[in-house]
Parts: sequence; C-alpha cells; structure tokens
Amino acid sequence: MDDLSYLLNGLNDPQREAVTAPAGHHLVIAGAGSGKTRVLTHRIAWLIDVERISPFSILAVTFTNKAAAQMRGRLESLRNIPSNGMWVGTFHGIAHRLLRSHWKEAKLSENFQIIDSNDQHRLVRRVLKDLDLSEDQWAPKQAQWFINNQKDAGIRPHHLQLNDDDFFKQTMHKIYSAYEAACERAGLIDFAELLLRSHELWLENPELLSHYQERFKHILVDEFQDTNALQYAWLRMLAGKNNALMIVGDDDQSIYGWRGARVENILRFNQDYPNAKTTRLEQNYRSTQNILNAANAVIANNGERLGKELWTESKQGELISLYEAFNELDEARFIVSRIKDWSNQGNCYVESAILYRSNAQSRVLEEALLQARIPYRVYGGQRFFERAEIKDALAYMRLLGNRHDDTAFERVINMPTRGIGDRTLEILRTTARDQKMSLWQAISEVKKSDLLPARAMSAVSGFISLIENIANDTNDFSLFEQTDHVIKTSGLIAEYQKEKGEKAQMRVENLAELVTAARQFEPESYADIEGLTPLQAFLSHAALESGEEQSDTNQDCVQLMTLHSAKGLEFPLVFIAGAEEGLFPHQMSSESPEQLEEERRLCYVGITRAMQKLYFTYAQTRRLYGKETYHARSRFLKELPSELLEEIRMKTSVNPSPTYNKIFVQAPSSSMPFKLGQIVEHGSFGQGIVLNYEGRGENTRVQIKFKTVGTKWLILSKAHLDGD
Ligand code: ATP
Ligand code: MG
Repeated sequence: MDDLSYLLNGLNDPQREAVTAPAGHHLVIAGAGSGKTRVLTHRIAWLIDVERISPFSILAVTFTNKAAAQMRGRLESLRNIPSNGMWVGTFHGIAHRLLRSHWKEAKLSENFQIIDSNDQHRLVRRVLKDLDLSEDQWAPKQAQWFINNQKDAGIRPHHLQLNDDDFFKQTMHKIYSAYEAACERAGLIDFAELLLRSHELWLENPELLSHYQERFKHILVDEFQDTNALQYAWLRMLAGKNNALMIVGDDDQSIYGWRGARVENILRFNQDYPNAKTTRLEQNYRSTQNILNAANAVIANNGERLGKELWTESKQGELISLYEAFNELDEARFIVSRIKDWSNQGNCYVESAILYRSNAQSRVLEEALLQARIPYRVYGGQRFFERAEIKDALAYMRLLGNRHDDTAFERVINMPTRGIGDRTLEILRTTARDQKMSLWQAISEVKKSDLLPARAMSAVSGFISLIENIANDTNDFSLFEQTDHVIKTSGLIAEYQKEKGEKAQMRVENLAELVTAARQFEPESYADIEGLTPLQAFLSHAALESGEEQSDTNQDCVQLMTLHSAKGLEFPLVFIAGAEEGLFPHQMSSESPEQLEEERRLCYVGITRAMQKLYFTYAQTRRLYGKETYHARSRFLKELPSELLEEIRMKTSVNPSPTYNKIFVQAPSSSMPFKLGQIVEHGSFGQGIVLNYEGRGENTRVQIKFKTVGTKWLILSKAHLDGD
C-alpha cells in the first residue's frame, strides 16, 4: 500500500476510525471545531486512494458554495491532484446540475432560468395583482413564505388539503397555483423548486434514478443538522438500498429551523438506518480553553440536546472581552481600533471577522473600516449580483437567452425609461394572463388588436427591436463581449452616467465590474453539463453563487458576515457585535422558546468560530432601520461565566442625568474636547448629549441630542459648548 501518512497523520483515534471505516452508513455527530469537516474530507481521500473508488462515484454535499470550494481545495492539496469528475456542491447546485442535464424529463424548458428570492417576491406580487388580492391583506412575503414552505415539504398545490372554512389556506392555495403557472409559462424556477423538481425527476423516472444510484456509491453530507425534509428525502432516495451515506453534523449548530431545517433528521437517520455506525468527536482543535468554556456554558441553557461536552488540549488563552459602547458608532470605532492593534502586532486582516445578527448592522461597521482605510469584504447582505444595476444588466442577458422570462422582461422594459408606462404594461399583463402566454408573446397579440395607442405601441416595438438587435449583433461574441455590449446598447450605463453623485458612480463601476466578472468567469463547474451555453452558465452562476464574486478574494481584508453565514468557518480574532436583547437574540424569538433556543445555538456557532480571541460588543443606544433604540445587554452575555470575562471600560464620565448612567467612553481626541456621551450645555438649545463627531481642527462637527430641540450637527468652533 502507498504511504498513507499524509492521510492518517493529524487525525485522532475516533477521527481515524471514521475515516477508515468499511463501507456502510455512518453518522458523525460532534461539537464545533472537533474536525467533522476534516473527517469528511479525509474520508473522501481515503475512498479514492485506498478503496480505489472512482471520484466519479462520490457525491459530497455541503451548505454553502464557499464551503464547497473549500472542501475541493482541501482535497486537492491533500492529494496533490485535481479532483476531477467528483460532484461537490450545495443541494441547490447539485439539483441545478441534474435539471440542466435532464430538463426534458423534468418537464422544464431548455433555457429555464433560476430566480432568487427578490425575483420571487416580485413575481408573487404580480400574481397577487392578477388575482385581485390586495397586498395589505395578503402580504407578498407571507405568500412567498407559504409557497417555499410547501415546496420544502414536497407539497404541490394539488396535494393541499382544503377545508371549506379555511379561507386563509384556500387563498394561499390559489396564490400558490397561480404562481406555479406563472413560473411554468416563463421558464422560471426558484430555489425550493430546484430541489422539489429534481426529487420528482427521480420519482417519475425510475430508470434515471437507478442510473444515479448506480453511479453514486458514496454520498457524504456536511452540516446535516440543517437539512430540511425534502433534502433528507432526496438523500435517502439517492442512497437507495446499496449506497453508503456518511452524515456529519452537530445538533447544537442547527440554525435554519426558520427555513424548514429539521434537526430531528439526525434522530431519524438512526431509525432509518439502524445499522449505521455512530462516531462522536469531543476534542476541539480550534479554540482556546476559555472560548470553549464560554461556548459550553451558553449552550448548556438549551433544553433539548443530544448532549456533549467539548474539551481541548490547547491553552487557557485570553479572557473574553466585553465592550459596552455608547452607540453603534462608538461600537464600530472600538472594533476598528482593536483590528488596527491586531494588524500592528503583525497579524493579517483576513484572520479577523466581525459577525452580526442582522445584515443592516454592516453599514456602520463598513463606514468605520473605510474611514480607517482598512480593506474588508462583506459576505451575504447586499451582494454584488443582487445590486439593482447588476440585476438590470442580467435581466437583459436573461431575455437574450429566453424571451419568455417575464420577470426579466418586466424588470427592464422601461429601464432605462423609454416611455412605457404602467398602463401599457397592465394591458400586456392582462393579455398574457388571458391567453396564457408570456409577456413577450403578448406583444404580438396586442399589436394585432388596437388595444395600445400608437405611441405606446411604438415604444414597445422599440424595446422588441432593441433586444432582437442585441441578440443578432452579439451572436458570435464571447460572454464578456456580449456583457459589454449589453450594458452599453441597453442604455444602462448611459443612464447612470447621466446621474451625478457617488451612488450613480458606484453603479457605473459595478456595471463595469460585471464585464470583468464575465471575463473571469470560468464555467469549469458547469463544464460537464451538456449543452449549457456560456451565457446560461453565467446566469446560473449569478443566481446560485451571488455574493461570492464581490471583491478580490485574495486581498488581505477583514471578514464581515452574519452569524448565519459564519457556519463552518474559523478565525483567530472574532467580534460578535450588537449583543443586545431584541437584536441578538432577535426580536422575533421573544415569543417562542424554540426560536430562542435557535438564537442560542446561533450564539454557540458565533463563539465557536473564534480560535484565539473573542470580543462581544453591545451599544446602549442604537440607530437601526432609521429608529433609535435602547436595548438591554443580551441575555447570552449573562450566561457567560464571569470568570471568563473582562469588561473593557474606558473612562467613566461624570453624569448628572439618570437616563444616561453607566457610560463608559473613549478618551477624547485632540480636536474634540468632549467625550461621546458627555452632557454639554449650548447657549440657545440648552442641555444635550454628545452622540458623534467628525472632521478635524476647524472642521470638527459634533452631533448633539438636545433635550428640547432634538438631534443637531454643529460646527464645534462656533457652537460655544460648555462641558461639565
Ligand atoms: P464546525 O462544527 O465549526 O463545522 P468542524 O467540526 O467541522 O467544525 P473542522 O473545521 O473540521 O471542525 O476542524 C476545526 C479545526 O481543527 C480545523 O482548523 C482543523 O484543521 C483542526 N483539526 C481537526 N482535527 C484535528 C486533529 N486531529 N489534529 C489537529 N488539528 C485538527
Ligand atoms: Mg465543519
């Protein structure tokens, strides 16, 4: 046998046992940082190099594209050769691949297009309108939620059981059916549909299923605790009678219950596969003792757990730091100053991560980083491929691939403005709905009648020729030339160039960046999907992998992301920002103990991302979603044993007002004689509290919240403020 030291060194006993186990079902259930993902990767290498299983027979599923890429990378460096032919991806990515290969059997149109949740929202709104349902009474979000929940549970409209007296369900059923019909007509498929459709594909085509069952002898799944019912059914189906399933997960890290994930799948797995071996890993290799103790203490407050305690051989490490900020700006400044220190000590930015509960928190943090000229990257949130101008450009490209893509059609028919108003669009919609055709087809129908006034008709015809011309002109173009042509000819770039200001400038830059993205796009992971044009591959990539192309991945930069998207990752330095009641745990969880437990698991995920140093920060007052809020510190902080904590308090200001007590502030800077949170007196406005400042010297401006006249920005040198 070859030298296997590369494979087996660096594994502890239970890990090695799992990696080298004979073929069969296997459950690895273990806490954070105990090497689950490592076991899975090594297992794949073992199968290929020792068991001589073809990579072609292996299917590995993980939760995010980032994790999939990481797994492929780890495998390649482990074995020193590219892992061609192996399917490694997310459930959505793999389902997409199946549907592209078998679009006919799946009853899809050849050039079907994936829509993301924003597109879906738009489509649901249109359906509501078509059905004459008011959005006030039937919130589009709720309908969208309903539809996705049904799909995740494998339920089609005709499966729904309706009671005569359940008006809500009847209406939802109506919306769901109409939504499905609209997707069908336009060749659109949403994320949940990808899975449901590929499940049905196998169900209805047993010969296809057995082909894949023959092929995938080994199926390995990471982050199993977050699979939903349909994903689990899909896995079971593929595993059939003969294939081996290796399932890796941690019940304490189940954080997608709100999206239908079922942690009970872990328990079900044991019932469904009674012969499965179980491996538990309890040694943590990631974090210091203090960080681990903190994580153990927090999660111990949850009721239903499979129960496991993590230990580590690593050193005690530093205490966990808590910082009580005055407001969100102070919080951001504090974090940035600590990251600067970290970098000054010779560390890399990329080793640091700022985690938060809500996407909206990132803006202030981003601004503070920008101001300090520290490079950063935001994962999730307003992603590159989700930005309005990018979606506009992609919509044009989608129309080139499929004229019946109604969502794309609606998005750009009047973008940039070409005199096509709501009335015109309404007529097209009605025609399309009545004749069960796409909006594009509806135009020819409308042309035959005289439903549209001549001016409107000519504007619509102009749009049709624009699309047809772009299609003709770019026939022989490469993908990036086509992209370039689209953003210029459509008038999109010109539209934003006309506008002044930084935002418009940014949009122009983003459009240019799209051309770069198209140029850099390597359709390698789509290469073995037969007949997929580069354009289709690129559009699928944009829908599936939004956010991962956002900036130069190789740059050394601070990592910003939500706690949810941090799953599976690790960083030497971690900040968890906004540890406040109502923010984290999230407001939504206040009424339900189950949801609160899910928030606590999220906290556990957050803490266990940290390898060396962990900070929690929270603010006494926070402006979020345009509102000023006052939250108590998060209950999770109270669950941390006090001997593991150090509270960082700057100077305490003298504080005459009981509403503003307990303020710990930063030392004033040279051009700013007051401290944040300090009470000051103004000649005409009276007493107020210093909230913020910007600029230097002569230009220093301070923001003050006055008791009588509200919040104002004042030039410091002119304001004649008195402090205490
Ligand atoms: P999570 O629950 O967060 O997904 P995990 O259980 O998947 O964590 P890994 O990411 O596989 O854990 O491993 C955590 C860290 O510990 C990684 O840096 C990994 O390289 C290291 N590690 C795992 N096992 C060992 C080992 N036996 N010896 C040394 N380092 C190890
Ligand atoms: Mg992992």
